[in-house]
Amino acid sequence: MGRGSDFFGVRSLTARSPGGAGARASVFTLESGLRRPRLKALAPFRYAARMDVLQLDVSGRPQAWISPREAAVLYASHAVAWTLGETFQVLRGGIQRSTGVQSRIELHPIVAVRGAMPSRAWRSTPAITNPKLFARDRCICAYCGGRFHVDELTREHIVPVSRGGEDSWMNCITACRTCNGHKGNRLPEEARMTLLYLPYVPSLHEDMILRGRRIVADQMEFLLASVPRSSRLHG
Ligand SMILES: [Zn+2]
Repeated sequence: MGRGSDFFGVRSLTARSPGGAGARASVFTLESGLRRPRLKALAPFRYAARMDVLQLDVSGRPQAWISPREAAVLYASHAVAWTLGETFQVLRGGIQRSTGVQSRIELHPIVAVRGAMPSRAWRSTPAITNPKLFARDRCICAYCGGRFHVDELTREHIVPVSRGGEDSWMNCITACRTCNGHKGNRLPEEARMTLLYLPYVPSLHEDMILRGRRIVADQMEFLLASVPRSSRLHG
């Protein structure tokens, strides 16, 4: 990235593959709020364009998944303290009038942000959502053991909410529609149904994996290194 350059003042950035094989791929106009690149123009770089960047705080704790364009803004505002992984995209900006050098940002799959406060999420339990719950449980029904498409799965409360059960990681399990309907408003023992596996609270690193949509090898390696061996993600 160009030293001393201010990408907010640069009218357009063109994205190129690291090898430079492709021509202009897309135009990001930072000044106009990062206009969406034209899909046709992005075709040779679909992989990179679809990729998410893992944002960490400066101590290496996961904070969020961000788009390559959001990452570019962090680089441009000199907020990136360090990075991990191979460059997956190079953004080229305008020519600096003072130096004659073209601005350039190398995007990495993992960026640690300088001065970022330790994530609040780090101290609290990750929020539960159906996609993350189904991912934690590998899309397997806890009662019949079948593996289902997410459309066929439900968030099953082991102790029903109507009977005081919490909507939490420890009281929720993945169940198919049939099993959930059969269990109804009963406890598993009342319905004579046995849990084939147990619920658990994902760690923050695991949570980042559960909510990641397109995790590349560098990111998975980093996150899995901090996921407890007891996690089903290691299974
Ligand atoms: Zn089932």
